[in-house]
Amino acid sequence: TKWVYTFGGGKAEGAAVDRDLLGGKGANLAEMCNLGLPVPPGLTIITEACAGYYSHGRSIPDDLKAQVRAGITRIEEITGRVFGDNQRPLLLSVRSGARASMPGMMDTVLNLGLNDHSVQALGHDAGDARFAWDSYRRFIQMYGDVVMGLDHEIFEEILEDEKGRLGHGQDTELSAVEWQHVISLYKRAIEEELGESFPQDPEVQLWGAIGAVFASWMNARAITYRHLHNIPAEWGTAVNVQAMVFGNLGNSSATGVAFTRNPSTGENELYGEFLVNAQGEDVVAGIRTPQNITEASRLASGSDKPSLEKLMPEAFEQFCTICETLERHYKDMQDLEFTIERGTLWMLQTRSGKRTAKAALKIAVDMAEAGLITRHQAVTRIDPASLDQLLHPTIDPRARRDIIGSGLPASPGAATGEIVFTSEEAVLAEKEGRKVILVRVETSPEDIHGMHAAEGILTSRGGMTSHAAVVARGMGIPCVSGAGNIRVDLRNELLIAAGMTLKKGDVITIDGSSGQVLKGEIPMLQPELSGDFGRIMEWADKSRRMTVRTNAETPADARAARSFGAEGIGLCRTEHMFFEGERINVMREMILAADEAGRRIALDKLLPMQRSDFAELFSIMHGLPVTIRLLDPPLHEFLPKTDEEIADVAGVLGMNPADLRQRVDALHEFNPMLGHRGCRLAISYPEICEMQARAIFEAAVEAARETGAPVVPEIMVPLVGLKSELDYVKACIDAVAKEVIGEAGIEIEYLVGTMIELPRAALRAHVIAESADFFSFGTNDLTQTTFGISRDDAAQFLNTYIQKGIVEQDPFVSLDFDGVGELIQIAAERGRRTKNGLKLGICGEHGGDPASIRFCEQTGLDYVSCSPFRVPIARLAAAQAAI
Ligand code: ADP
Ligand code: MG
Ligand code: MG
Repeated sequence: TKWVYTFGGGKAEGAAVDRDLLGGKGANLAEMCNLGLPVPPGLTIITEACAGYYSHGRSIPDDLKAQVRAGITRIEEITGRVFGDNQRPLLLSVRSGARASMPGMMDTVLNLGLNDHSVQALGHDAGDARFAWDSYRRFIQMYGDVVMGLDHEIFEEILEDEKGRLGHGQDTELSAVEWQHVISLYKRAIEEELGESFPQDPEVQLWGAIGAVFASWMNARAITYRHLHNIPAEWGTAVNVQAMVFGNLGNSSATGVAFTRNPSTGENELYGEFLVNAQGEDVVAGIRTPQNITEASRLASGSDKPSLEKLMPEAFEQFCTICETLERHYKDMQDLEFTIERGTLWMLQTRSGKRTAKAALKIAVDMAEAGLITRHQAVTRIDPASLDQLLHPTIDPRARRDIIGSGLPASPGAATGEIVFTSEEAVLAEKEGRKVILVRVETSPEDIHGMHAAEGILTSRGGMTSHAAVVARGMGIPCVSGAGNIRVDLRNELLIAAGMTLKKGDVITIDGSSGQVLKGEIPMLQPELSGDFGRIMEWADKSRRMTVRTNAETPADARAARSFGAEGIGLCRTEHMFFEGERINVMREMILAADEAGRRIALDKLLPMQRSDFAELFSIMHGLPVTIRLLDPPLHEFLPKTDEEIADVAGVLGMNPADLRQRVDALHEFNPMLGHRGCRLAISYPEICEMQARAIFEAAVEAARETGAPVVPEIMVPLVGLKSELDYVKACIDAVAKEVIGEAGIEIEYLVGTMIELPRAALRAHVIAESADFFSFGTNDLTQTTFGISRDDAAQFLNTYIQKGIVEQDPFVSLDFDGVGELIQIAAERGRRTKNGLKLGICGEHGGDPASIRFCEQTGLDYVSCSPFRVPIARLAAAQAAI
């Protein structure tokens, strides 16, 4: 096997495309070499050798040793130095580097090859003894920590003590003799703590470091990181062994890091920091305050330390040219590491730079406009999920954060307001023009109006799919859920967190993007929907096949969704309308009526309310399709629960509380999600379906007359498992349609379709399709019914499942392609076999999840529907899936 690939001297055996083999760092070092850039020569041990190390019982195969030896000989030839030599010693860095950048991996070891003899030679050769001892102490520190496993704090303490004793502020102030003394203390500490001495043999040092890189692949940090980022353990890490160049060789030497563009704004300007007379990670370690690279950023930051541009103009010029070369070559913003040794520039790393969502948009648009990348490429450069950051107010990154608690980042964006503990108070506050945060242990459907009125929602219990989280995401309201470290004392209206007691009316801020709960009001940045964002969305819209609709019931949501580019409503959950204001009591009257006649009296009162809701939605959507789902939840969700609530409601309805309690108990179900709900309600009480159908058609007539835009209502029947269920409900709808349309005397086209949310419906899709004009996959329920996992109770054990690796992801968040996905494919294929071109869509949380959207594209669905604030995400994801 060829285990070792060399680079240096103007050419390399590998290239950027060999990332899997050489790891990210090694592949890009090779690429830079091939581009003729100044890279210190070195070698890369391929990732597969890592597997070899483990299959050899954690030892190095012999042929690997021989190949590394040959590679080092090549480095010796290029540099004119010899590894382990006592005249002109070659020093090496040993660097890990997996395919994906992994912060959990081993730290780099620099200056390897130094010992008590070669340190003298190094100083002599460079004519700078301080430099040699400084390098040696760095080496012992790093090797002692990273390879030998001695706590780095032990070294730091020794150094701090010495600096204090000598009266030095900076490391650079220590003289050669003083470093020599520090080194003797370091060595003694190693002997005392580990019972072995610091290895003097460079070969031993080298294989110690290489072994440590391999071993670090299996350290706890790396394993956790791989778990979190779905990186397979088989990949292994590569090892880069490279000739050292020295940024610590006096005041004409330096080391730094840079981005070719500003990573937070995306501005096309070189952005970076460096330190004179320093090495390795000094810049990021914060030992000294780093200096700006460009004069412009020095001026902007108000620093009085000279920029690289002023200090080393030649190296700076050369560096700028290299930045341009690399950007043009990789066609992306680069994150660079470099070192200047006595005025000579060396490149040590390049990779695509991490950036904020805002910067990503700007960079993609700028590069496309400059012709560096195509518009398609620009569209694929943006992580759809990251758009979330841009659609909501965010906490100003410069602001001070007084964190008092934390929970799950349940719905993105930040919000500030006074604490209130009940939905009634939230509604009242909204009327008075006060901004509030609704704080609850958890929320329920009765809180809908309060949630709407609040700026943000904070709960102390519940997961990412709890009621509060799902509804808040739907409304686009920031939410932190399950903040276990705050205590909500509803009785006394107190919030207790971080040893502080806050009262109703005290101001807090929640950050639904990080899950933080903060004290007081915090400055925010407002979203920016035009500019680069608008450009990318425009390009995305040209590339996608599927349309994007929204899930919306309220006019506010529908308008918001339109402004985000929704092309219709894919799911209007009629029951949400029944929770509003006075309606809940009319709804209760209907549910509690003794017979059909009684129900009809209440339904007659609900009819005009529903009609005006629909009419408004139709006019906002102005001719775009609107899918309305008939009543879905079990009826007891509308009923009071506690004795107090029952007494209240009994008063309003003029009932005896005991009778009411009896009716409520009678409607109780053990397993309501699998109970009397969905089309089952329409079959038991066809008068409810009649009322809803009438409201829809009358509203359609009204909208058609007013706006002139033809409305095509799409009526969706929930929870169908049997064709006969759909037939029964459809007959009811058709009868009402005939009546209303006949009376109105205008043509109204309409569709009747069904949700596919039961496995049986998916399997019998070819039969159900005979009666359906469209299918909409209700993947929340379909996931629930396919797994047999209740969405409301899943949080309790799904986290354990994820931690133990039983499932990779929460199937309610990202679609389970294998199981639920196969049912969708079956239903799509069977449905279209019966009805060619049957319209297919998806509604529910997955409709806004990029991975699930990709699946929908591949399955050939016509549209996805998601909550208003996810519409731009879905537009972008749908485009990427189609490109
Ligand atoms: P990381 O992956 O943590 O960034 P690197 O392997 O890039 O680790 O090394 C960290 C730093 O060590 C580099 O930024 C550079 O400053 C220094 N370094 C690495 N190799 C060399 C070398 N051959 N000569 C000089 N400095 C080096
Ligand atoms: Mg690096
Ligand atoms: Mg459902």
